[in-house]
Amino acid sequence: MESGKRIKIAQLLKSEPGISTLVKGWVRTKRGNKNVAFVALNDGSTVNNIQIVFDMTRFTEEQLKPVTTGACIAVEGTLTASPGGGQSVEILAEQLLVYGTADADTYPLQKKGHSMEFLREIGHLRPRTNTFGCVFRIRHAMAFAIHKFFNDKGFFYLHTPIVTASDAEGAGAMFQVTTLDLNNIPRDENNKIDYTQDFFGRASNLTVSGQLEGELGAMALGEIYTFGPTFRAENSNTPRHLAEFWMIEPEMAFYEIKDNMDLAEEFIKYLVKYAIDNCSDDLKFLNDMFDKELLERLQSVVETDFVRLSYTEGVEILMNSGVKFEFPVYWGADLQSEHERYLVEKHFKRPVILTDYPKEIKAFYMKQNEDGKTVRAMDVLFPKIGEIIGGSQREESLEKLEARIQEMGMEKDGMWWYLDTRRFGTAPHSGFGLGFERLLLFVTGMSNIRDVIPFPRTPKNAEF
Ligand code: ATP
Ligand code: MN
Repeated sequence: MESGKRIKIAQLLKSEPGISTLVKGWVRTKRGNKNVAFVALNDGSTVNNIQIVFDMTRFTEEQLKPVTTGACIAVEGTLTASPGGGQSVEILAEQLLVYGTADADTYPLQKKGHSMEFLREIGHLRPRTNTFGCVFRIRHAMAFAIHKFFNDKGFFYLHTPIVTASDAEGAGAMFQVTTLDLNNIPRDENNKIDYTQDFFGRASNLTVSGQLEGELGAMALGEIYTFGPTFRAENSNTPRHLAEFWMIEPEMAFYEIKDNMDLAEEFIKYLVKYAIDNCSDDLKFLNDMFDKELLERLQSVVETDFVRLSYTEGVEILMNSGVKFEFPVYWGADLQSEHERYLVEKHFKRPVILTDYPKEIKAFYMKQNEDGKTVRAMDVLFPKIGEIIGGSQREESLEKLEARIQEMGMEKDGMWWYLDTRRFGTAPHSGFGLGFERLLLFVTGMSNIRDVIPFPRTPKNAEF
């Protein structure tokens, strides 16, 4: 029996009755009586289960005993039209093989309706729940759609390094990478750590962003994107921050800020539409179980134009709102998610792209505006999330970039390779970073970022 080729449940549920089939998966539920047993089986290919009918004249009770919730089985049988409601086909079982039992007294997913918090504690088993099955299938579909979007536009996927000695942009606190013996750290004559003895011959860390390297690619290949893991050691225990998250960072030669905004808007709409068109079963499940407005919210993002306004205008709206925010708003303040969400959810009721932020709260590489106070930054703000994309037009002038680096008291020596892009054949260019898990929060309607990544890395949490 094992030699046959299994057919996935997603395919079986779309098949015509009459065929004989082999199905393999994990038991969700079993019910029945002396004459017949019904098993709901799931194999991860879809949120939907297939019903397997065991005629007890063909099977013994002893045979069916290990078929309990969580057990893994293979069943050979005939696909038949289902007389019961809820499903169009079911399998009339002819042969049964139990691969693995799951003891009813100790299997943690015995009943339904566990809290998200509890499921995080059993992160090794939560992919077996309907909810996480949906989330991880959607996660896959979004990753695929990202590559498709850029490939269809002629962008090249550039792999930027995960380990680097570059301090990127001060985007966040970094995880150090070292092979030095922590119990016996080599020191130089000034008692400073002697990194020449470290693996890379200098202090190195996990990347916080692939952007700076991405710019090198854009200034040669024209339009590139990165899509990889990034790491930030900030101790922020929020529902929107991970220590390890995935980021998509397109970088485009000859794009001005307006082109950058157009691309960001088109990109997100494409991804949301892709989810609506290709993940309908999973989205419907999440909509019905968790968030009755999810599908509506997704549809509305695809259909509405994003508002575009300057940081200065945004701050004025917030200051005139009469709302008492936890963090005060004034020109120059770094906007918090409560401010961003007020603009999106209360004031405009649609996504907002804020531009031209004060230079003091943005990175050194952003293009400086004529006013001497603001830079050509753009943040895309989304309902329920706040910032989903951060980007900018980049400063292409070597002189202005060097002046800004000096002004900010940054270490210029390690930046020579980056500055060379401005020294040789510089050009206007722009890019942005989309946090993959922030996108998934929006698309799945989950409310905690730990629940949209298979193995969340957060402070004090990296066991497996
Ligand atoms: P925030 O202000 O929300 O902390 P940021 O300004 O530090 O974000 P950027 O450096 O602009 O973020 O990074 C680009 C994108 O990466 C953000 O728009 C967001 O979608 C995502 N992002 C940033 N930090 C995290 C994090 N710790 N976990 C998950 N996603 C993140
Ligand atoms: Mn940002």
